[in-house]
Formats: sequence, C-alpha cells, structure tokens
Amino acid sequence: MDTKILQNVPLAQYTTLKIGGPADYFIKANSTTDLIKILSSADIKPITILGNGSNVLISDTGIRGLVIKNTSSEIKIVNCKLKIENFSPTYTQRQENEPDKYLDFPKIDYDESTLPISEIEISSGCLLSYIINWTLDHGLTGLQWFAYIPGTIGGAIVHNIHGGSYHIADYLKSITCFDQNSQKTVTYQKSDLNWQYEQSFFLQNPNLVILSVVLNLFHGDTIKAKSVRDAWIAQKIKVQPMNSPGSAFQNPSLEICQKNWGEQKSAGWIIDHELNLKGYSIGDAQISNQHSNFFVNNGHATASDYYKLIKHVQNLVKTKFGFDLLPEIKFLGDFSTPSK
Ligand SMILES: Cc1cc2nc3c(=O)[nH]c(=O)nc-3n(C[C@H](O)[C@H](O)[C@H](O)COP(=O)(O)OP(=O)(O)OC[C@H]3O[C@@H](n4cnc5c(N)ncnc54)[C@H](O)[C@@H]3O)c2cc1C
Repeated sequence: MDTKILQNVPLAQYTTLKIGGPADYFIKANSTTDLIKILSSADIKPITILGNGSNVLISDTGIRGLVIKNTSSEIKIVNCKLKIENFSPTYTQRQENEPDKYLDFPKIDYDESTLPISEIEISSGCLLSYIINWTLDHGLTGLQWFAYIPGTIGGAIVHNIHGGSYHIADYLKSITCFDQNSQKTVTYQKSDLNWQYEQSFFLQNPNLVILSVVLNLFHGDTIKAKSVRDAWIAQKIKVQPMNSPGSAFQNPSLEICQKNWGEQKSAGWIIDHELNLKGYSIGDAQISNQHSNFFVNNGHATASDYYKLIKHVQNLVKTKFGFDLLPEIKFLGDFSTPSK
C-alpha cells in the first residue's frame, strides 16, 4: 500500500460540483487489494467511500471519520464468447419531454441481446469513460449508452445509473463487496438483488463497499457503438453541465405524472414549465440555463446555497402539486444545522 492516511483534507476538489468541507481523515485506495487492506485495518470510523464524486453534495462542514477515495482501476476479460440467456432491460423512466432539445432515445436504440457475450471483471474505482473505451477497443459493446457519465463503476452500481433505455444493472453478472459489519468479502449474483430506477441494494446497505463487478458485454458492432458513444457525448456536452452532480431530482413516477399531467413528465420539464425556474439562483448555486434538472456551481457556491436551492424547488412542487420530488443526488455530511 503506497498511500498514507492524511488529516483534514478538503473534499471539494474530489467532486464535479467543487463543493464540500474537509474529511477528518482521508486516504486513496489505488487497487482492490489496497481497498480491502484499508477497510479491514482502519480503526477510524465511520468510513465513507468516494468514487469520482459526480453524484454527491458534501456539506460545508465536511465528513467525519475516514474518507476513502477509490481509484482502483484493474480491468480484464475473464470469460470469452458465451451465450447469454434472458437479457431483459429494465424500463427506464428517464424521459425527455422535448426530444428536439435532447437525445431522442427510441430513435437511436437498438437490440444486441441475442449476441454472444464475454465477461469482464472491473475494479470498482475504474472510470466509466475508461471502461467504455477499453471494451470497445477489445471488440465489446453495450456500455455506449453510458458515455459522458463521469462516475466510477462502483458509484454507477450504487445508483443503478441509466443511459438511453438501459440501466447498468442490465449488464451485470455479479458484484463482490466488503461487508464492514462482518469484515468479510461477499459475492452477489445480479438475480440475488432487486434493481429499479435510481434504486439499488447498496443505497440501503452502506455497510457494503463494492470492490469489483463482473459485467456481461456483447460481441457487437463496435463501429456502430462508437458512433452512438460519440453522438451521445456531443449531445450531452450541450445540455449537461459538468459543474454539477448530474440530475438534481429523479423523475416522478408515471402514476404521479398521469394524475397531474395525463402523461410522463421529467423533473426538468416540471422545473422549467411549471415552476418557471430556469436560471434561478441562490448565491452561486444556480438552476442551469442548459438543463433545468442540472443545478450548477458558478464558482463560489456553498453546500448551504445548493441545499437551499434543492429545498426551494421541493417546497414549490409540494405546495403546487402535493408530491415529493426526490433527489437523485446523495448528501454526504451534516445538513441538519439550519442554513444561514
Ligand atoms: C455531467 C453529468 C452527467 C451525468 N449523467 C448521468 C446519466 O446520464 N445517468 C445517470 O444515472 N447518472 C448521471 N450522472 C450522475 C453520476 O455521474 C453517476 O451517478 C455516477 O455513476 C456516480 O459515480 P461516482 O463514482 O461519481 O460516485 P460518487 O459520487 O463518488 O458516490 C456516489 C455514492 O455512491 C457511494 N459509492 C461510490 N463508490 C462506492 C463503492 N465502491 N462502494 C460503495 N459505495 C460507493 C458513495 O459513498 C456515494 O454515496 C451524471 C453526472 C454528471 C456530473
């Protein structure tokens, strides 16, 4: 293990939003072996895992205990050219109501589910962008739908990320974790766990640290997949600002939308068309002019500004429509003290 535990380390630099106070204690895990060693020997508690910090809002007072920044990045093909059975994508609720402004998923979607697959084993700290390029260069497709998502595969599994019509769990074979309660490693098959839009077993069980995953990927058309990846990136650059933690809110359920609008609506559409809040700001935290479900840091936003902006939108939706708009972002640290 070539890294040491540091004290009082500012965490804003480890997030896409560039917001957040210090970690009491901080260490980088550069491999799966390091990650296991740190987890099994650390006597500083609690432990928080940070992937690429692209889905978190860290409080201004930071995070107590030990923060492990996961940069483990091994990747290898473990089983080649198998036949897959029962590839069944889960329905995604990520819907754009103005497809002319955003990518129109059904238009570019295509089915690869009958192709032979290979199994890829990946350390949890590996960046999705690296995995997508590596697998395409090795003749494997399936992850092109997740291009431009700036997270690690560990963070992607925790949030069961969605891209186009797919969730990352659709491609999953198994996950190996370190259980902080039993101090043992445990492997789950995909079918052992329940997967839904923005939901995973790991959000409910923070004692489990994902060490590595095995994905099933297709021996598909890499030229076609690369063109999807590139189109996706070109389109997302225009509408998804990187100085954010991704979408602020989950899209409301179809049931809620049908009651209010007669059809599925996205959180961004509601913020834009029903609340008229595009561009609205509190301090340097702003509802992006590019996409109303992306809240950005214009330079000096505090976590408190950002949190107030989220609460403001939630309160307006609750008052006007009577339902709770649920955050897609994970809040780390203490947000209980009243904001100044
Ligand atoms: C510009 C932009 C575009 C985005 N587009 C999308 C999109 O299209 N679809 C989508 O679904 N999301 C999107 N996101 C959100 C985000 O990138 C994903 O959720 C991402 O996969 C999070 O991974 P991360 O490594 O950054 O996780 P982090 O933000 O570091 O962590 C998120 C949570 O997971 C936990 N965690 C991280 N790693 C582990 C691990 N190994 N074991 C256990 N717990 C862990 C953390 O403790 C934290 O609670 C976008 C974000 C941005 C900034």
